[in-house]
Amino acid sequence: MKIAVLPGDGIGTEIVAEAVKVLNALDLKFELETALVGGAAFEAYGHPLPEATLKLAKEADAVLFGAVGDWKYDTLDRHLRPEQAILGLRKNLGLFANLRPAICYEQLVGASSLKAELIADLDILIIRELTGDIYFGQPRGRRIATDGHFPGAEEAFDTMRYSRPEIERIAHVAFQAARKRSKRVTSVDKANVLETFQFWKDVVTEVGRQYPDVALDHMYVDNAAMQLVRAPKKFDVVVTGNMFGDILSDEAAMLTGSIGMLPSASLNASNQGLFEPSHGSAPDIAGKGIANPLATILSAAMMLRYSLNQEAAAQRIEAAVKSVLAQGLRTADIFSPGTTQVSTLEMGAAVVAAL
Ligand code: NAD
Repeated sequence: MKIAVLPGDGIGTEIVAEAVKVLNALDLKFELETALVGGAAFEAYGHPLPEATLKLAKEADAVLFGAVGDWKYDTLDRHLRPEQAILGLRKNLGLFANLRPAICYEQLVGASSLKAELIADLDILIIRELTGDIYFGQPRGRRIATDGHFPGAEEAFDTMRYSRPEIERIAHVAFQAARKRSKRVTSVDKANVLETFQFWKDVVTEVGRQYPDVALDHMYVDNAAMQLVRAPKKFDVVVTGNMFGDILSDEAAMLTGSIGMLPSASLNASNQGLFEPSHGSAPDIAGKGIANPLATILSAAMMLRYSLNQEAAAQRIEAAVKSVLAQGLRTADIFSPGTTQVSTLEMGAAVVAAL
């Protein structure tokens, strides 16, 4: 199991170091190789995604990614900014499926803006298609002004488009993920208004016939947005297009209230994937030793589940995280009175001890 470890910038190095300790504490054999990415790579090689880093990522079974970015790079040309590294990795590895679980741990229900009974034990998985939809339709890239605006124009438009293979492959990811969970998929569309999403619905339904053990239902996106805050626990796996997924995955993530807790995965057709916390490089707290490493540790668990086929090890890590929360250990971002505040290093060590 070959893993490319790309810590990146800011808190990236601190949180990835803890995830690596957790991986090394499992009785599994990994080949871990670290490389620079983002601002750190720009400083060393003049590019946020150097050839050597890309080669390492391509040859690995999975990429464990920290975070990239810092305000000091905001004046750089767009193609040299740290965030371009993620887009470059997505494109070059063909990552088309973004998996974002929204899990609410019993001990952290107070962090959510919703009532405790609505989100206690919430465990849903939002699957967003990453390569198609209106974000990549015409007239992308045909802007008439270099600053991205349209001086004097009377209209602008974007084209929503999905091909059959694009929908089929994301539907397969959803049904296969559901098989590892409660065997329910909700496909979110806007088939009542958009031709693209009537087509989406038809293709997802066809693919669903290959998974008779998984229940499929369909929901319009406006209703899904409402149901996510009304009764989120009714969902299991939600699959949707790039734009609806962009919005719904952020909505679902915030149901749990704690950004330092949320892992994510981006997969390609051969289940090779990039695994990273949903948050950024947090330059405001970098170097202070207070960042929460749990989102990255949980991303490593997703890596074991989805790319390395080590479900038991993934569950062991998730159980260890639950156990440290039950012990009352909290980094500053999830601290509440009556719990014990710990550093990034102490949190990592506690997960290793719980394993
Ligand atoms: P951010 O997610 O880095 O931080 C938002 C807030 O959450 C900050 O107050 C931060 O201290 C806190 N936070 C984030 N992760 C935390 C953790 N693990 N533990 C404790 N607190 C945590 O978002 P931002 O401040 O808008 O962006 C900072 C930089 O990160 C920018 O350069 C941005 O472009 C980049 N970014 C990168 C990614 C990525 O690498 N995938 C994603 C989002 C933002």
